[in-house]
Amino acid sequence: MGFLQGKRALITGVASQRSIASGIAEAMHREGAELAFTYQNDKLKSRVEAAAAELGSNIVLPLDVSDDAQIAACFEQLGQHWSDGFDILVHAIAYAPREAIDGEFLDGLTRENFAIAHDISAYSLAALAKASRPMMAGRNSSILTLSYLGAERALQNYNVMGVAKASLEATVRYLALNLGAEGTRVNAISAGPIKTLAAAGIANFRKMLHHFETYAPLRRSVTIEDVGNVAAFMCSDLAAGVTGEVTYVDAGYNILGMTGIGDGD
Ligand code: NAD
Repeated sequence: MGFLQGKRALITGVASQRSIASGIAEAMHREGAELAFTYQNDKLKSRVEAAAAELGSNIVLPLDVSDDAQIAACFEQLGQHWSDGFDILVHAIAYAPREAIDGEFLDGLTRENFAIAHDISAYSLAALAKASRPMMAGRNSSILTLSYLGAERALQNYNVMGVAKASLEATVRYLALNLGAEGTRVNAISAGPIKTLAAAGIANFRKMLHHFETYAPLRRSVTIEDVGNVAAFMCSDLAAGVTGEVTYVDAGYNILGMTGIGDGD
């Protein structure tokens, strides 16, 4: 029996088979969770429906997190399927306008780009936590989001997305404090670079991946399966004592102080 048997998980952020959310959904399904999915827009609808069907789910709901009405409608519709609540919310959503994640930090920076990156990539976690609260309270439930090292270190090209990820990680801590008394845990996984649609928007992503594979302690990049397995564990009762944490699934890259000296040059 899988360690997520009896759990219900809502998965956001599937855009392709390469999405980190797809790796998470696969691992959660393998461990026995019942799944529901959201899709951002009509272009993605049939793709997400097909992915859901492969994992035995026919609950597929529209959700653009920039729209309060869609957030409310999503959880209302979910309530029609899962009237007594659900246990896991996976937030795998981020966006910044392309010009803001290419070149120097200040070059692509505008008030609007800053606001969009924070709205879609950080505020949306709090908004979904708030909207799902009545359905998740009192069930030993778990909320999980995806972050990146750019939240803590200044990384070339990541720019305003790094600032938004810092906000996301702080939001994880405040939500963990707020929802802990109801038994809801809130955590993040900080994943190493993985070639997905979102990653393709970051300038010089291939170079970044190569650098990572050269210098990470495990001398490899990570996969959506690596992230999916840790996500399934973090959202299970095996991790019942963990909340407000950022867990790295990055082949150890974050422990490094300096790269490019000695072996691996
Ligand atoms: P992806 O492109 O497969 O997924 C990004 C998802 O965000 C898509 O499903 C897209 O539909 C969704 N999205 C964007 N704007 C939205 C909106 N307004 N409403 C609803 N959904 C919206 O890419 P991914 O790499 O799997 O990204 C998932 C998460 O993982 C993101 O938070 C990303 O920052 C994070 N992450 C990615 C990497 C990486 O290298 N790929 C590393 C660390 C963290």
